[in-house]
Amino acid sequence: MLRLNKVLNAIPGEFYTKFEAHNPGHSSKDRIAAYIIDKAEKEGKLKPGDTIIETTSGNTGFSVAMACVIKGYKCILAVSNKSSKDKISLLKTMGAEVHVCPSNVASTDPRSYYEVAKRIHQEIPNSIYINQYFNSLNIDAHYLTTGPEIWNQTQGNITHLVACSGTGGTISGSARYLKEQNPGIKIIGIDAFGSVIQKYHETGEFDQEEIYPYRIEGLGKNLIPSATDFEVIDRYVKVSDEDSAFAAREIAKKEGMFVGYTSGAALHGVRILAEEGEFDENSKVVVIFPDHGSRYMSKIYSDEWMAEQGFTTPEEKKPTPKPIK
Ligand code: PMP
Repeated sequence: MLRLNKVLNAIPGEFYTKFEAHNPGHSSKDRIAAYIIDKAEKEGKLKPGDTIIETTSGNTGFSVAMACVIKGYKCILAVSNKSSKDKISLLKTMGAEVHVCPSNVASTDPRSYYEVAKRIHQEIPNSIYINQYFNSLNIDAHYLTTGPEIWNQTQGNITHLVACSGTGGTISGSARYLKEQNPGIKIIGIDAFGSVIQKYHETGEFDQEEIYPYRIEGLGKNLIPSATDFEVIDRYVKVSDEDSAFAAREIAKKEGMFVGYTSGAALHGVRILAEEGEFDENSKVVVIFPDHGSRYMSKIYSDEWMAEQGFTTPEEKKPTPKPIK
């Protein structure tokens, strides 16, 4: 847990980040990989030489691949073509077999990374499919680790948790634990424009109209994951690709923390909440920064990529200063 000293200075309250980039696999996903694999071993569902299969935007894949190297399993990953090239190369470097699948198809399409992983699991005997979007152990892993750590590290002095929601495991498991300690803690999820999650939380409806392509990886969804416990989440805020990218760059420059794309999304979400008057001087807010910036060198940390996306620099957004005579 680190204090955010600069980026949220203008906002009342104290802001801390649960900084997940320093896990061995550089993201929060080490927690679910370790927990689910250990449990499968204890239950006799895995023996050396077996295969572990997963659908992943990259981070879970890295954590699973790392565990497979150490424990002697084969690793097969179905990855969306939205995942950065860095992430895909990393997975291959860690010995995984990687299947790159189109991101712009329905989750039920046979080409989707969900369906590809399911098919491979059916075809390979002695394999387990982690299935992070629909596995309640994803929630349990954070209930047993992230939640208690946040509670202990803040000594129970926390008013808000702000976390990105992809599978929803991080926010749901942490929230479940924190609300058991203090039901008054407000839990706020960050969702992406182009994802159905916020609308589903508000209305209980799966609204196809909400779905369109976006660039942030690991945040938001085009389906409703059962690894999200919507009951323990108070509300969601949506963020854009561009704001999130600039916010991540700002965290690196102002706080010296080299974080991933969704950390920028979380920071920008906090700013939207602040504008709505969510925080006051008594607020003690924990924001989860899920992964490390090194996975995004060819994306948000590349000036060329930013320009290609049409993301204008904040300087360009400002009116041109008049020359001093
Ligand atoms: N940020 C990144 C970079 C991720 O890879 C993920 C996981 N998909 C998340 C945030 C969201 O975490 P969760 O799946 O636990 O909701």
